[in-house]
Formats: sequence, structure tokens, C-alpha cells
Amino acid sequence: MPELYEIATLIERKALGLGFSACGFSTSVQLTELEPDFRNWLSMGNAGEMNYLARNVEIRLDPGKLVDGAKTIISLAAGYYSDLPDHIPGNPRISRYALGDDYHRVVKSLGHELLGWINNEFGPANGRVFTDSAPILEREWCRRAGMGWIGKNGCLIIPQQGSWFFLAEIVLDIEIPSREKVVQNRCGNCTRCIEACPTGALNGDGSMNPLKCISYLTIEQKSHIPDHFSGKLHDWIFGCDICQEVCPWNKYPEKCTISELLPRSALAEMDSESFRNLNSSSFVKLFDGTPVLRAGWSGILRNFEFLERKDSE
Ligand code: SF4
Ligand code: SF4
Repeated sequence: MPELYEIATLIERKALGLGFSACGFSTSVQLTELEPDFRNWLSMGNAGEMNYLARNVEIRLDPGKLVDGAKTIISLAAGYYSDLPDHIPGNPRISRYALGDDYHRVVKSLGHELLGWINNEFGPANGRVFTDSAPILEREWCRRAGMGWIGKNGCLIIPQQGSWFFLAEIVLDIEIPSREKVVQNRCGNCTRCIEACPTGALNGDGSMNPLKCISYLTIEQKSHIPDHFSGKLHDWIFGCDICQEVCPWNKYPEKCTISELLPRSALAEMDSESFRNLNSSSFVKLFDGTPVLRAGWSGILRNFEFLERKDSE
């Protein structure tokens, strides 16, 4: 059996071989110091219609409640940026992350492959894989693992790689020491994301008011979009990438190496007319297997009509 620090190197090498862009390790502990702020944030109504955020707060703050005997969080980042076109200018836009196959399936499956390999090499190990699929503070574990910092746009920023990543975790009952130091926040005096956000959703300290964020309004919010956002959604029909697009740390972004996550040309090439001609069954057929299905046909139709209304005013 290799030494513990060698195990970390071998796991990282395997993760990169599977297509992940970065991998880090942190000790599983209760994040009790984050509890007051999180509960305060909830009590101010910031979760909006995301009722799931108020459930399982204790689990969210303690990975030991997700895996018995949890000792290590392996954090994984899978890049999804590519140079392929992601939209036709002037037409409704879909956030980059949603133009390919659903990351829940793709990234989780790679995480399971890694966990299986760990079990073969160093097991038996009890572990579970998550990607945006359980109450777990993904970015905070990445930060603790020394992978990067949480920028003023709320994203994990990895030095020399940017922020276009899906995050995943393996919570494991094997002890693997972290080799990295926490990366200091390098946003400095930059405020580009705050100034570029069309709805004023960013608070400036890495937190945001999700109820103002276009991603929330176009995906999570099921009721109508308030009128005062008219003209502020730009062309976004599903999600929003503005605060990542303007970030200087994304000038030379890490490129996606997982083919299933690349944008499907049929989606990147959609124009207003294509959206106008959709119906519930053609919507499901076209977006089958992508995260866009999450909004549902009624959600996409509502968003499209909201954008069209702006154009006709
Ligand atoms: S995703 Fe868009 S709306 Fe949301 S904070 Fe970023 S720039 Fe603002
Ligand atoms: S745009 Fe500037 S302030 Fe915003 S996350 Fe990037 S570096 Fe930080």
C-alpha cells in the first residue's frame, strides 16, 4: 500500500486521466462556523422558490451525515468551456453549461468510475459521489482543498484555469491528507462582474441575491418573472454567463476534454424563429438529455415570451 501522500497523487493522476481538470482533497469536518450565516441568509428569504435549500441544513454542514465515517472530501472540477460557438448573436441564449449532455449524468458517472478505481487500488472504501445532487457545499470544499477561491461572482476560480467548471465530490471514509494550501482570494480591486451583472444580483463579497439572478429567474422560479426585470434579462432564455464571461481569470479558460459536455450544434444554432416554432413535444425531443429540460416547456415558453415582450416595447 503506498503512503497516504502518494495515494493523493495517484488519485489526482487518475482523475485527470478521466477528463477532470482539477482534483483536491480536504478533511471531512462539520462546517459549524458557516451555520449562522447560512441560516441568516435563509431567514432573509434568499432561497426564494428553492425550498430544498432550507431542508437538510445539518447534512449540508456535515458530510459525515452523508457517508458513515467520512474522513475525506475529494473535490473534482470538470471543465465545460470550448471554443465551439454557443449562440447566434442577437438571439435567445442558453447558458454554456446547458448546451451539452446533462452534467449530472456525465460527471457523476466519471466520479463513480474514479470511486471504483479507488476501491480497487486502495479499498475497501465506503464512498458516495455527488454533483450538484446532494446538500453539500461544493465550492467551499474546493476552496479548502486549495483548488482556488470563491470570486465576487460566486464561482470557484482556479488559477490559470478560470471558472467554467462543473464540480463534483467523492465523500470517502479513507483518510487522504490535503497537499495544498488554501489559495488566497485574487479578485483584488476588480469589480467587473458586479458592474456587468444586468440585474444587480452580486453583493460584492462572493454572495449574491439569487432572487435577482437571471439563472434563478429563468430556471428555478416557477411563478411569473416580475415586470421590473423587463429589458434586463438581455437575451438569456435559460441561465446567464455574463459574470463569468467578463472575468479576467477566464481570459485563457481551461478547455473541455469530455466530449459529451461539448455544446450540441443544434442548440447553439437556435435563433428566435426556431424557439417560436417549438411546441411541447419538439422541445422535449430537441433538448432530450440536456439540463434545459429542467425548466420544462412551460418555463422556456414563459422566458421566451418575456424576452419577446421586451423586444416589442
Ligand atoms: S449569472 Fe447573470 S444575473 Fe446572475 S449574477 Fe451572474 S451576471 Fe448576474
Ligand atoms: S470579474 Fe473580477 S471581481 Fe469578479 S470574480 Fe472575476 S476577478 Fe473577481
